[in-house]
Amino acid sequence: MSRRRSWAEPWKIKVVEPIRMTTRAEREAAVREAGYNTFLLRSEECYIDLLTDSGTSAMSDQQWAGMMLGDEAYAGSSNFYALQEAVRKYYGYEHLIPTHQGRGAENILSQVLIDEGDFVPGNMYFTTTRLHQELAGGTFRDVIIDEGHDPSSEHPFKGNVDLAKLRELVEEVGAERVPYITVGVTVNLAGGQPVSMANLREVAEYCREQGILVILDATRAVENAYFVQQREDGYSDKSVARILREICDLSDGATMSGKKDSLVNIGGWLGVRDPRIAEQARNLVVVYEGLHTYGGMAGRDMEAMARGIAESVQDDHIRARVGQVEYLGGKLIEAGVPVVRPIGGHAVFLDAAAMLPHLAREVFPAQALASALYVESGIRSMERGAVSAGRDPVSGENRYPKLELVRLTIPRRVYTQAHMDVTAESVLEVLDQRERVRGLEFAYEPEYLRFFQARFDTVGGDGIFA
Ligand SMILES: *Cc1c(COP(=O)(O)O)cnc(C)c1O
Repeated sequence: MSRRRSWAEPWKIKVVEPIRMTTRAEREAAVREAGYNTFLLRSEECYIDLLTDSGTSAMSDQQWAGMMLGDEAYAGSSNFYALQEAVRKYYGYEHLIPTHQGRGAENILSQVLIDEGDFVPGNMYFTTTRLHQELAGGTFRDVIIDEGHDPSSEHPFKGNVDLAKLRELVEEVGAERVPYITVGVTVNLAGGQPVSMANLREVAEYCREQGILVILDATRAVENAYFVQQREDGYSDKSVARILREICDLSDGATMSGKKDSLVNIGGWLGVRDPRIAEQARNLVVVYEGLHTYGGMAGRDMEAMARGIAESVQDDHIRARVGQVEYLGGKLIEAGVPVVRPIGGHAVFLDAAAMLPHLAREVFPAQALASALYVESGIRSMERGAVSAGRDPVSGENRYPKLELVRLTIPRRVYTQAHMDVTAESVLEVLDQRERVRGLEFAYEPEYLRFFQARFDTVGGDGIFA
């Protein structure tokens, strides 16, 4: 292993899907039609689609073979038992509640554990996670270390929980008002940054003392395990699969979006150890998702996920996956583009505030940059800044997080090194014309998770480039 420097993919390509380059005029029309929101573009209007790594991965031949073994019985599908076995083996949770995707698990967990007036700490918010906590009557409190909010800090574990911030909250409101902490491994909105095993151990110990549950957002826990193997003392000769178990063993449960680490197009789950929580969750899953042995997934989806989990923890796979992300990030850093450092597990995050200093936060520089990159190159990215952060539920004011980012998210096993090269070149082309990029203002603002469906107008003239 030590002599092997390459992150070359441990697979070869068997099936291809054509993609098409559009003209600049087509893209200008398309982005205007989409209200300058990349979520509202059609997929066929995109050349390289880096909107998200969610549900966009390529399945293996083994997973596709598993699709033919779908047992579509309403109750007790054999694929459910295969999934349960995979989750028990690799994540270690005794009780599995399947859901249609991650937010289904977040909804159920929030309803089971949160009472009106409770506080739920977390290492930086995630959009759907925080909204479900708020809808259940809870208040989210950010307890990530300060470095997590600093795009230039090279801290190797920028996702870590700040124990002092956690203690302060518990002392302020009382442990009985804090049912659980959500620990994201890795932290998506901090730039795909990992949590160290040492930090997780401290969090688990403190929370056990206080009677607070530790719930992982395990969406990218395999990527977190890989960073632990690469960066933390004492882990370099442990397998990613073994480290993953060690991470999960420190927690009481997890919500999971199978659409990320687990290499499937749809699916998720809630995993817990406490049989009483499992029972309450099963009572709710039948209301919101489906019977407790399918939770909104077809049998074939559960089989693909069971197989995907086993593939996702292979050291070769995860080294190639993160290696590709680091390759793109390295190219941009070399060219002097301001990006969140160190490069995270699933995406390269452009620091839009630094790239477009002529645009005030109120005209959403990251939203504008995503539109400009699309018009320039056909590459689709996503805003992760003030638009994603939404409004404060009490004051109604816009929330302005420290980070104003554009995310170039890499689907697993989909694009090649040449696509990464084109992506880096395209970002540089936008950088060359940065002063011409116009700001945006809301034309339509939805009440919940506004970034998905919002529409914008350009400020000071027509078109994203002046
Ligand atoms: C995607 C995601 C979720 C939500 O999962 P869905 O499957 O999209 O519902 C939760 N947490 C994190 C960190 C995610 O990236």
